[in-house]
Amino acid sequence: MKHKTIIEPFRIKSVEPLSLSTESERKEYLKKAHYNLFLLRSEEVIIDFLTDSGTSAMSADQWAGIMLGDESYAGSRSWLKMERTIKDLTGFDHILPTHQGRAAERIIYGYLGGKGKTFISNTHFDTTRANIEFSGADAIDIPIPESADTSLIHPFKGNMDVNRLEKLIAETGAENIGAVILTVTNNSGGGQPVSMRNTKAVSAICKKYGILMLLDCCRIAENSYFVKHREPEYANKSYKEIAQEMFRLCDGAAMSSKKDALVNMGGFLALRDKKIAEACTSLLIITEGFVTYGGLSGRDMEALAIGLEEVFDDHYLEYRIKSTTYLGEHLHKLGVPVLMPIGGHAVYVDAKKFYDHIPVDEYPAQALACDLYILGGIRTVEIGSVMFGKYDENGKLIPAPQELVRLAIPRRVYTQSHLEFVIETFEELIKHRHDTKGYKIVEEPQFLRHFTAKFEGI
Ligand SMILES: *Cc1c(COP(=O)(O)O)cnc(C)c1O
Repeated sequence: MKHKTIIEPFRIKSVEPLSLSTESERKEYLKKAHYNLFLLRSEEVIIDFLTDSGTSAMSADQWAGIMLGDESYAGSRSWLKMERTIKDLTGFDHILPTHQGRAAERIIYGYLGGKGKTFISNTHFDTTRANIEFSGADAIDIPIPESADTSLIHPFKGNMDVNRLEKLIAETGAENIGAVILTVTNNSGGGQPVSMRNTKAVSAICKKYGILMLLDCCRIAENSYFVKHREPEYANKSYKEIAQEMFRLCDGAAMSSKKDALVNMGGFLALRDKKIAEACTSLLIITEGFVTYGGLSGRDMEALAIGLEEVFDDHYLEYRIKSTTYLGEHLHKLGVPVLMPIGGHAVYVDAKKFYDHIPVDEYPAQALACDLYILGGIRTVEIGSVMFGKYDENGKLIPAPQELVRLAIPRRVYTQSHLEFVIETFEELIKHRHDTKGYKIVEEPQFLRHFTAKFEGI
C-alpha cells in the first residue's frame, strides 16, 4: 500500500519539554521585550519558528560523533573528516572552517570588498549585505521580476535576473564587481529555489566577464530537492549529484552549517583559487583560529561532517520539504496570503495583504509577528521594513519591497501536531485581523536593527 501520510522518518529518543504559557502571561512577556521577539527568552515561547538556523535536532550518529571529536589544536582527525566531506561535496581545494556563516562572509567580503566595489546577488541575506556594506562596498539585489508577486506560481522564484546582470556589468564595469553571489535557496527572497539552468546562465556570464561567482550554499540540499523535482533533466540524479554540479559552476562557496549541515554551530568557506584562499587564510588565523579548526571545536567538526551527509538522504529531504509544504498549503486554504509556491525551510506570510489596513511605515509584518506570539506563543520573524528599511535624508522611511513574516521550521524538531497547533492559531487570528494596529520604532542601532530595536504600539 502507498500511504498518503508522510511520516517523520525518525523516532524520538530524547525529549525537550516545551514551556507552555497563557495569553495574558505572553502579553506581559512581549511588553517587557519591547515588542521585539528577538528580546524574548526562549522559555517564553511555545513553538519557536524564529529561525531554522542552529536549531536542528542532531541524530544519534551525530551525538556519537560528538564523543569521538578530536580536540587537537593542529591536524585534528575531526577536521580531516570535515575537510574531506566538504571537498567531496563542493569539489573545491581550499576549505576554511569558521564558527558560523557570517564569519566566512566577513573574511571573503572583507578581502574582496572595499569602497568602489559592487556585489550582485539574487538576494543578499541580511548578514551578507551587512558584511559587504561594512567593507564600504555596495550590494545590489536582482531577483527575477516574478519574485515580487507573492501569489504567482513559478518553479524557481529564487532565480537571478540574468538580463539585469548583463546590464549591471556593463554599467558598473566588470573590474569593479567584487563577486556575483547566488543564494540557494533564496532565504530573504522567500526560501525559493534557484534552478540549475539559471545557475548555468549566471556562471556563463561570470566566465565571459571574468567575474568571481560564489554560492551562498546554506540550503544547498533543500535547493537540490527542488531541482530534482522541477527540472526534468535532473529527475534521475541524486540530490548530492545535483549539489555537486551546482558547485562545479561556481568559484567558491560560503556556508552557514547551522542550516543544511544539521548542526547547532558551524560554517565554512570553500574556494577554488589558491591566491584568494591564501589571503583569506591569513584573515582566518587572525580572527577565527588556526586552519584546522577555525572557530570550531573538534566535536563540532565531527558532527558537521556527519550532518552534511545525512541531509542528502532521500527520506529526510522528502519529509523536510513536504512538511513545510503541509503547513503552507493549509494556511493558503484558510485564506492566509502566503508566498507561493511554498519554499523549502519556511512559510512566508505577506503581511501587507494580511493586514492591508496597516501602512508600511507602521510595520504590518511586525504587528503580525507580535499577534502570532500573543495568540499561540509562536515566535516568527519580520522580514520587511524593520529588517531592510532605510531612511531618506529627511528621516522618512524607504520601505523594503515586501512586508513578510517568516515561519522558519527547525529541522527534525517539530511534529505534525505542532504544525496543526500553528494552523489553529491562524484560524483564530484571521477572524480578528482588522482589529490589529501597527508599531513604531522608539530605539534602534545603526546596523542590523531588527535584532535590538525597541517598539511601541500605535
Ligand atoms: C544564515 C545565513 C547566513 C549567515 O549565517 P550565520 O551562521 O547566521 O552567521 C548567510 N546567508 C544565508 C542565506 C543564511 O541563511
